[in-house]
Amino acid sequence: MRLTQRIVVIGGGVLGTMHAVAARRRGYEVVHLEREGEARGASVRNFGLIWVSGRRAGAELALALRARELWAELGARVPGLGFRAAGSLTLAGEDAELALLKEAAALPDADRREFELLDPAGVRAVNPALRGEFAGGLLCRADAIVEPRQVLPALRGYLAARGDGPRGSGPRGNGQSGYQWLPGREVTEIAPNAVRDHTGAWHQCDLVVLCPGAAHTGVAGRYLAGGALSPVRRVRLQMMQTAPLAERVTTALADGDSLRYYPAYDLPGRAQLPPQEAAAERARAQLLLVQRADGGLTIGDTHEYAEPFGFDLDEDAYDHLRARAEALLGVPLPRVRRRWAGVYSEVIPEVAGHALYHRSEVEPGAVLVTGPGGRGMTCSPAIAEETFG
Ligand SMILES: Cc1cc2nc3c(=O)[nH]c(=O)nc-3n(C[C@H](O)[C@H](O)[C@H](O)COP(=O)(O)OP(=O)(O)OC[C@H]3O[C@@H](n4cnc5c(N)ncnc54)[C@H](O)[C@@H]3O)c2cc1C
Repeated sequence: MRLTQRIVVIGGGVLGTMHAVAARRRGYEVVHLEREGEARGASVRNFGLIWVSGRRAGAELALALRARELWAELGARVPGLGFRAAGSLTLAGEDAELALLKEAAALPDADRREFELLDPAGVRAVNPALRGEFAGGLLCRADAIVEPRQVLPALRGYLAARGDGPRGSGPRGNGQSGYQWLPGREVTEIAPNAVRDHTGAWHQCDLVVLCPGAAHTGVAGRYLAGGALSPVRRVRLQMMQTAPLAERVTTALADGDSLRYYPAYDLPGRAQLPPQEAAAERARAQLLLVQRADGGLTIGDTHEYAEPFGFDLDEDAYDHLRARAEALLGVPLPRVRRRWAGVYSEVIPEVAGHALYHRSEVEPGAVLVTGPGGRGMTCSPAIAEETFG
């Protein structure tokens, strides 16, 4: 049997990059192609939340916990990831939300999520920046934060410096790092044991791992087409980032609206939640807030499912999110410096069943991996590990 020695990874997002890390760890040479000069998809547009708290009990929680372990290991080796085990607080605005948090804190797997229900004084003891109004909060110590704008270059630097892989395991013959990053190369064709990029250059390999993110057309298009039977859909989210806040926000934050979306909170108390505010309901918004290493606050998000997506940003959604954040912090937010939207690929439950992401062998020796949805940053290291078995 021919042994796999050289892998081409297509896609410089977090899924592709974590596959490169996992492949180098197993001693394979990796050639890594990205169509842009630098990845600029979902992986750099997200919150950097390594989010365990809201995962569905069972396989989803297990995948997130394994990934959390792998992130912590990588964080210790690659300081540039900005990994910090900051935990999160999900805050209840009123009694029905608090009752639902109480139910979640009593789940049989609450210990694995490191949940603790706190009253307002307990919340402030953990996160003194929270001077606003809330009825209580659920602390999840398992949640963590990374710096999304730094993660990909930091991991590539680590690979290029031979930070991973068995010692002395450079590519056959040239004694280099065993990792080659080729930005500005869009793959247009996958053939047995090779891929071709848009310049016409062929890249020989034993295995192709295709991680195209939300690029559901192009080279991945023929494998993901299928109309109503396509296993994946795209989702667009709005985000913003403020100037630095002088004070430390010690944990990530989520508001009560997040209880409507995350499957861990699909408990009897969810039916008792009051109606969502109209602006939040229209935008399918929840408040998530993370303080960046420089003190700025990343704030989101919204969810748009119907394509074609808007090309512009909806200010009503931002007004709602800003008001929510100010109500919890009890101070006006610093000036918003950046706004953006991002699109991720997500498996469709009605088609994909309980699959947490999409993986298929699309050609002999070519594997397509995408569709982790809003859990992709979190689960990426564990997804890559599963690809290599
Ligand atoms: C606003 C937002 C917030 C989010 N927040 C979080 C969060 O806090 N925590 C969490 O766990 N998840 C979060 N997610 C989800 C997470 O970001 C995604 O699931 C994850 O980044 C997907 O990674 P990816 O590598 O598959 O895709 P991408 O990051 O989109 O990367 C795919 C890459 O492939 C390249 N590519 C495509 N086709 C080709 C080709 N033919 N040739 C060469 N290159 C190609 C693209 O240019 C792109 O760089 C969020 C997503 C968004 C949009």
